[in-house]
Amino acid sequence: MSAAATPMRRAAIIGGGLAGSLLAILLARRGVDSVVIERATEAESRTPAGGRSINLALAARGLAALARAGVAAEVEPLLLPMRGRQVHQDGGERFLPYGQRRGEEIYSVARATLNGLLQDLARARFGVEYRYGQACVGVDIESARPIVAAPEGRYLLDADVVFATDGAGSAVRRGIAAAGHMQAREELLDHGYVELTVRPAADGGFALRPDALHIWPRGGFMLIALPNLDRSFTATLFLPLEGAKSFAALRGAKGKAAGAAHPSGAAAFFAEEFGDVAALIPNLAAELASRPVGTLGTVRCRPWRFKDRILLLGDAAHAIVPFHGQGMNAAFEDCAALDELVGRHGADWPRVLEALERGRLENADAIAEMALENYREMRDTVRSPNFELRRAIAFELERRFPERFVPRYSMVMFHPEISYAEAQRRGAIQADILAELAAAATSLEDVDFDRARELVETRLNTPR
Ligand code: FAD
Repeated sequence: MSAAATPMRRAAIIGGGLAGSLLAILLARRGVDSVVIERATEAESRTPAGGRSINLALAARGLAALARAGVAAEVEPLLLPMRGRQVHQDGGERFLPYGQRRGEEIYSVARATLNGLLQDLARARFGVEYRYGQACVGVDIESARPIVAAPEGRYLLDADVVFATDGAGSAVRRGIAAAGHMQAREELLDHGYVELTVRPAADGGFALRPDALHIWPRGGFMLIALPNLDRSFTATLFLPLEGAKSFAALRGAKGKAAGAAHPSGAAAFFAEEFGDVAALIPNLAAELASRPVGTLGTVRCRPWRFKDRILLLGDAAHAIVPFHGQGMNAAFEDCAALDELVGRHGADWPRVLEALERGRLENADAIAEMALENYREMRDTVRSPNFELRRAIAFELERRFPERFVPRYSMVMFHPEISYAEAQRRGAIQADILAELAAAATSLEDVDFDRARELVETRLNTPR
């Protein structure tokens, strides 16, 4: 019997978020029917939930996966290009382009709108069945079937294969781990976040430069802002949960969860630290007081599979901190990798699941580490003069040796053909080279480019 004719053709997807919906589309294109179990109601899936990131940065890896699914043209009108970082500090601001090659930009996209579009496409174009308002509450370990709570009662979900894309707090992962069949660690960061809305300017235009991701780095904490199609920005304040400058301090002793606010104190802190943007947030005190503080963390899990029938993907397998803007991109890349394997092995699920995990694990580990490193860079390092020199040298080396030297940020954001693990490995070598060259120079003109050539040629092969 050919793969196309095998009966192993019904998949269950737990979680119809970004990864789950893209996966449903990719599977449908391969002739695999899916039923998607989604905890939220249909309306909730399209509404920004309090405390969730409202907009996200989409980059080349995510775009490549959307193109593979044939939905890039539908997504395109939702995207706002961001060509670099607009750094606000010391009373001024400056623009640092992300890359130097054509098209090296990332895109701000509203999470809820993208999620709604992918769900609509999955349902209307590919006939995927969504069961909204039903939640997976665990896994029947014996039969490796998800336990689903529906308004009518609980049931065991039958399918040939189950993909768990139920996000960082995955009930599937927790259920399997609790039974001792997975090792899962959830490492919370001691920083949380709150989202605030920067309204459009009085004339209806953007109040800040629209083609940039804005950053206000302040050492132990920071603010960022991404543009929205309605000409507002979503600003996200990242702050320690406890300590002198923290959500606890802003909101009072019980502050981090309860929101027992000191609105005027919080607004004063904000105005002192982020003066140029405070005036652009009309409801600042109320938003700071009332919006829930989101937590951030890294999920590390081994294995991602259970009994050759269940596979974790996206945040359920490897949630990461958001400071490289890659969580969704990595989740979409998982889906693309799975699609490639289904193309190669058909519905030989044990083989597909094993190969997916083998191919993606080290990449998930690599982006998790790089995302944590980027947090330090965004809060701190972008403020140091040496950062700019190293960045300038990196761009110069890319110009001189484009086949060998690609800045690590560019590898991660703009080069899906270079895996995360390879970007991390090459990035470490490049960091050594940059440190050596920058230590002996005060400006780009001082750099010893003969030595640079020697280092690049002996230490870096071509990545492709
Ligand atoms: P999710 O998007 O979390 O989707 C999970 C889905 O499962 C949801 O629909 C949920 O309702 C459903 N669900 C949950 N539990 C159950 C259950 N028990 N039963 C049934 N359904 C369930 N990534 C980027 O690439 N770029 C960025 O700029 C970026 N910024 C971020 C900023 C912040 C503040 C945060 C927190 C994250 C950011 N991310 C970013 C990461 C990104 O949000 C995630 O990596 C991405 O959403 C993962 O997609 P997913 O489908 O795996 O999980």
